[in-house]
Amino acid sequence: MARTPTGALVSLLVVLLLGGCGSPEERAERAVSARATAIHERVLTLDTHIDIPLNFATRDVDPGVSGDFQVDLPKMRAGGLDAGFFIVYVGQTERTPDNEAQAKADAMTKFEAIHRMAEELYPDEIAIAYSAADVERIAGSGRLVAAIGIENGYVIGRDLSLLETYHELGARYMTLAHGGHNDIADSATPRDALGDAAAEHDGVSAFGEEVIAEMNRLGILVDVSHISRAAMLDAVRLSEAPVIASHSSMHALMPHPRNLDDEQLRALADNGGVVQTVALGAFLSETAARRAAELRNIRGAFGMIPGQPEEDLGAEPYEDYLGRIEALDARYPDATVADFVDHIDHAVNLIGIDHVGISSDFDGGGGILGWSDASETLNVTLELVRRGYGEEDIAKLWGGNLLRVWTEAETVAARLSR
Ligand SMILES: [Zn+2]
Repeated sequence: MARTPTGALVSLLVVLLLGGCGSPEERAERAVSARATAIHERVLTLDTHIDIPLNFATRDVDPGVSGDFQVDLPKMRAGGLDAGFFIVYVGQTERTPDNEAQAKADAMTKFEAIHRMAEELYPDEIAIAYSAADVERIAGSGRLVAAIGIENGYVIGRDLSLLETYHELGARYMTLAHGGHNDIADSATPRDALGDAAAEHDGVSAFGEEVIAEMNRLGILVDVSHISRAAMLDAVRLSEAPVIASHSSMHALMPHPRNLDDEQLRALADNGGVVQTVALGAFLSETAARRAAELRNIRGAFGMIPGQPEEDLGAEPYEDYLGRIEALDARYPDATVADFVDHIDHAVNLIGIDHVGISSDFDGGGGILGWSDASETLNVTLELVRRGYGEEDIAKLWGGNLLRVWTEAETVAARLSR
């Protein structure tokens, strides 16, 4: 958003270069690049799904330093990513009192981490948005914006009053379930290890209906990513405010249970909601899904645990590992920004530009070739410009639609609270 002297200088250089040499194709590409850069600087860019680890905003994971994670403040600045929903994610476990207490404790740890980042460590660089208007105000001040979303309604257990507690801490959307069913809704990906049947509630449970009503009253957006098809259609019907899919892509292009089919997309648009297309390879292309499965196999063969860096392997196995990855790259390349924008195009053609947005799922499994971390965010705008999207449409995709839906949820909450 904020125009920095460096930004202005870069723009000037781009303009000077444009008049320069090269083939007509090169000149055309430079013109596209200059246009995309200018649009990217002007529009508000908001990513609706950025995961954080439990030790976020500590000495181990300092968001003020460009490190191993896909998102930190320097990478957001470098990529022109103005705002992000930082996610209070808790995985589904067996629903026992002890496990529910642990889920609440983990949620509080992540809320505290996000507040520590914005209020103690980097108050001059980033601030927490509690309303849609806050997002624009904070971005307008030149700071980055942290909004907060909860991923997995499991964090409330059976206690509706916790929704108010989390709302006070800044939660403005909540994904009803994650991998595995919970007491609120069925998951799109039931888990054998948790003893899940294909369906437990055939959609949203009776308790889930109360949860949605309370979320509407408080102004917490209902997030339908991760829940089963039946639960998603229930949520759209039950919610008085428009719903969001905070990080899902399009089933018509990649039939993965985490994606939304055309009927779901139409239902979401009829409800006034928005689907935040997600840059996660396995949801975007068959090849990338094969790659993800093969990568798990390779890592398993080397005895690596999830998240373990390959450098830990020791010199000889590391060389061997790199060879296997090189072969994998050649055989099953990851999804690209073009694949990603194919999903955006499909949704825009089906339900219109007002109901589509963008998310990364960075540090939670997301990231593709060309948008592998927040510093590469401009590449998404570049591809949108190549496809012929104008500035107004790009502004809607990059956050305008999400802020409209958020504002509508605030209006519904004000009405219901009267
Ligand atoms: Zn997720």
